Amino acid sequence: MHHYMKIKRVPELLERITDPGARILCGGTDLVVKMRSGAIDPTLLLDISDTEALRGIEGKEDRLIIGAATTVSEIIADRLVAEKLPLLQTVLRTLGSTQIRNRATLGGNLVNASPAADSAIPLLLYQADVNISGIHGDRRVPVEDFLVAPGKTTLTSGEFVRGVSIPAPNAAFGSFFHKVGRRKAMIIAIASLGALVSMKDDVINEIRLAAGSVAPRPIRMRELEQAITGKLVTKALIEHAKTMAINSVSPIDDVRASADYRREVIGELVARVMRDAVSG
Ligand SMILES: Cc1cc2nc3c(=O)[nH]c(=O)nc-3n(C[C@H](O)[C@H](O)[C@H](O)COP(=O)(O)OP(=O)(O)OC[C@H]3O[C@@H](n4cnc5c(N)ncnc54)[C@H](O)[C@@H]3O)c2cc1C
Repeated sequence: MHHYMKIKRVPELLERITDPGARILCGGTDLVVKMRSGAIDPTLLLDISDTEALRGIEGKEDRLIIGAATTVSEIIADRLVAEKLPLLQTVLRTLGSTQIRNRATLGGNLVNASPAADSAIPLLLYQADVNISGIHGDRRVPVEDFLVAPGKTTLTSGEFVRGVSIPAPNAAFGSFFHKVGRRKAMIIAIASLGALVSMKDDVINEIRLAAGSVAPRPIRMRELEQAITGKLVTKALIEHAKTMAINSVSPIDDVRASADYRREVIGELVARVMRDAVSG
């Protein structure tokens, strides 16, 4: 038996968040699956899906602040996001089905901390911060440090995610996203790669790369980025980048794909992004 509480305001959440057996519920698309399978058995569900302070999208100076309980569908439909962070929409359009996107939230996707969490890719590329609140106050952590391992974040007891704060990039980036999965409609990625690239003729002026499902958490590929920045994109450079990508990841074997196959895929995706960047 579990109790259920609809949270309207943050102080109500802070009052109950450390209750034994308490668990935050938002869209429920991950949590309910885990409860049904018996993986977790919370005694108190704190439903934050209607908590005013955790919802909505707001522009503040050169940043966008997105509340944790904002749904994926709401983010996809937002005009400010379309203008400032187009890759966030491109990626979120591939998350689950329409029904899932209508319930799934940005905060839930991050805290669930799957190595395949799609929202992490654009958030890593745009260098977002996670706004954390809790019984001891507020803090802010780069998304790159927030995600630790499968199901594990830097959240401590008594803390929750209030939202994310994303700087709108000032450079004109081309953006790319590729996700390889087994089923077309509802792809949980076998491997995914996102990129923000600015080119000067055929030379890479700036590049950011982020990969999903090829490590215990979604990752920025910083060594690879550095190795190809300022370089003319040639066949040889693409081959070099591919090898570096294959060697820099640490995927696992699971029911969906082998580790070797995931390495091969990420190498191919890096090559594809570089070719796409040159051809505009
Ligand atoms: C059929 C199906 C397809 C899917 N496809 C994809 C996909 O393609 N890509 C993908 O990335 N994911 C996919 N998912 C996973 C899931 O939909 C997403 O991870 C979703 O964003 C989770 O959000 P939610 O609001 O439903 O989280 P919930 O299930 O409500 O919560 C998830 C976890 O986060 C915690 N939590 C939620 N919000 C907060 C908060 N603000 N602060 C602290 N803790 C919090 C909860 O306690 C729970 O542990 C899929 C799921 C299903 C069932």
